[in-house]
Amino acid sequence: MRTFVMQSLGHVGFMDKPIPVPGPNDAVVKTTRALICTSDTHTVHGAIGPRENLTLGHEAVGVVHDVGSHVTLFKPGDRVVVGAITPDWGDLAAQGGHSSQSGGPLGGWKFANIKDGVFAEYFHVNEADANMAKIPDSVTDEEAVYCCDMLSTGFMGAEHGNIPIGGTVAVFAEGPVGLMATFGAKLRGAGLVIGVESIPKRQDLARHYGADVIVDFTKEDAVERILELTDGIGVDTAIEALGADITFQNCIKVTKPGGTISITGYFGEGEFVHIPRLDWGVGMADKTIATGLCPGGRLRMDRLLRILEMKRLDPTVMTTHTLHFGEMLQAFEIMDKKLDGVIKPLIVFD
Ligand code: ZN
Repeated sequence: MRTFVMQSLGHVGFMDKPIPVPGPNDAVVKTTRALICTSDTHTVHGAIGPRENLTLGHEAVGVVHDVGSHVTLFKPGDRVVVGAITPDWGDLAAQGGHSSQSGGPLGGWKFANIKDGVFAEYFHVNEADANMAKIPDSVTDEEAVYCCDMLSTGFMGAEHGNIPIGGTVAVFAEGPVGLMATFGAKLRGAGLVIGVESIPKRQDLARHYGADVIVDFTKEDAVERILELTDGIGVDTAIEALGADITFQNCIKVTKPGGTISITGYFGEGEFVHIPRLDWGVGMADKTIATGLCPGGRLRMDRLLRILEMKRLDPTVMTTHTLHFGEMLQAFEIMDKKLDGVIKPLIVFD
């Protein structure tokens, strides 16, 4: 089968590999649609260290090709979505409610990390009964593929944010995860959602997904403006969707005492992130910092699919580019260099 790999640090290309074979609890899925993620580009630039001929990608849907002898819920031909994070459900971290951390910190993240990813004509799924979900007939593959990571991670930002009904929320950066955090904040009952973003197209999408006010940090001081919008009190919840020291610090600054800073970003630079001491209430202001990694699993995917099935959300508005798998080099460059106003490039396999 054809796969798209990280050949070595900074280098990507196609490679032929054998079609995977499922173990007793596993499945092999024939890919139909995939999305490129910014974290795929981080991986190629060394975020998880050097790798040789690692198949990239963790956001894909497809049709079940083969299942192991112990798989009871799925059969060849089923249309399925597979979470970007595929935990070991017997692990103690998973049993403790932290499935993404099964097998160690971030250990639920297997695709394009500790095993081959989904940018391939077929991909392997561990613990298939627990990690796959059937796609309802009324949901398209292009809609469903947003469940893998974008909906799951973005909504997690809102869920971890402990948003009161009618409460105030600031979302720092309106990339695809920030956009889904924005929509998630509205789903959780936020009264005022403030999106912090400078790129006009992303500002428009943030409004589309429920932001009431956009703060352009290139034109005004984001912290001052958010405090002004909340009568000097600060927001109940600040969601960090960039992964940068400055936005993390601003989240601390704009969150009111008793509020929550919810992190969805990947912090890839520097040895430390910094907490502004006074805005943190010298450590005594009841400000909670919540972190997390994209929840996976069948229950999670079923719930996300229900949002799509009930037509509450159209994630395909975020698809800015559609390319065939044979055009992966071009698609990857678009995402890597953030060309042409890209939000999400969709990859079509048939
Ligand atoms: Zn992703």
